[in-house]
Amino acid sequence: MNQTSSLTEPSIAELLRKAERPLLSYEFFPPKSEAGLLSLQNAVEGLRHTQPDFVTVTYGAGGSTQKLTFEVAELLRRFQYRPVMPHLTCVGAARGELEVLADQIHGDGYRNIMTLRGDPPKGESRFVPPADGLSCARDLVKLLKSRHPDFCLGVAGYPEVHPEAVSPEAEMDYLKEKIDAGAEFITTQMFMENSHFYAFMDRCEKARIQVPVLPGIMPALSLGQIKRILGMCGSVLPPELENRLIAAGDDAEKAMQTGILWSMEQIVDLLQNGVPGIHLYVLNQIRPAMAYQLAQTFIEMTRG
Ligand SMILES: Cc1cc2nc3c(=O)[nH]c(=O)nc-3n(C[C@H](O)[C@H](O)[C@H](O)COP(=O)(O)OP(=O)(O)OC[C@H]3O[C@@H](n4cnc5c(N)ncnc54)[C@H](O)[C@@H]3O)c2cc1C
Repeated sequence: MNQTSSLTEPSIAELLRKAERPLLSYEFFPPKSEAGLLSLQNAVEGLRHTQPDFVTVTYGAGGSTQKLTFEVAELLRRFQYRPVMPHLTCVGAARGELEVLADQIHGDGYRNIMTLRGDPPKGESRFVPPADGLSCARDLVKLLKSRHPDFCLGVAGYPEVHPEAVSPEAEMDYLKEKIDAGAEFITTQMFMENSHFYAFMDRCEKARIQVPVLPGIMPALSLGQIKRILGMCGSVLPPELENRLIAAGDDAEKAMQTGILWSMEQIVDLLQNGVPGIHLYVLNQIRPAMAYQLAQTFIEMTRG
């Protein structure tokens, strides 16, 4: 990594402050196979013309995929996506290693970082911090900000409440601590029903959390795929969507259209309710972006 370069990317917080329309962001992940790499390359090329305002790359739990995060981030830069925001977690790294990583990320000119604790290893329900490591995202926000005050940090929010939260209220007090430590915006976990997001926004208001909150939308591409992903993150699949996906049966195209239309309706409603942006979990696929494009077309056509 280049240690001498300065930050070349705009801060997402600044983009949000200056924006005259809602922002659009896409989330990618580092693939683990040749087929996955092809799918990523297709999506990176195919989505370029849709001009998201920023893109993000997840950070894996194991050592090798962590390196891949920055390879995918560089690929996105080569395709002129700006800014590119890598995710970073506390998993598997001592404080000193995180400090070195922070310097490298800064040296490579990345201004924005999605700052996370990370999940416990598969099969374990409790997160155990590594030796001399950090135990929560708030402490990683503190470490990154103390090291490089010009980093712009995003943190995760949970409309359906994080599975480990003691209570929705305790979670909000803690989310406020992440903001007070220096995080400048929140991106939410995916949710399939907007009522969860609006209830979360009410809790944010009560907790005096005033930073922009970007709702995370994940278009279902098949029943199996959406069940697996929602199961991992603890979000609920609404029975109505599940029934529609079941009704699509073996017709993969119909199932995909069903999922995209569902997300389109979510996005229309969110944009009409004044959200500052939409974070799309495109996850290395082109089709999910259609949900946003269709929502925009719908809003333009129905504008009086
Ligand atoms: C937008 C987004 C992107 C993500 N990207 C990745 C990724 O790239 N890689 C990856 O591995 N995972 C990713 N995740 C998943 C995330 O790592 C998990 O949800 C993880 O279990 C929690 O991470 P966190 O940063 O929210 O943790 P934290 O903010 O540390 O919170 C974890 C839990 O502990 C509670 N908690 C912690 N400290 C306190 C405290 N002092 N007082 C009260 N409660 C406390 C919180 O309420 C919450 O329930 C992402 C999630 C989201 C929403």
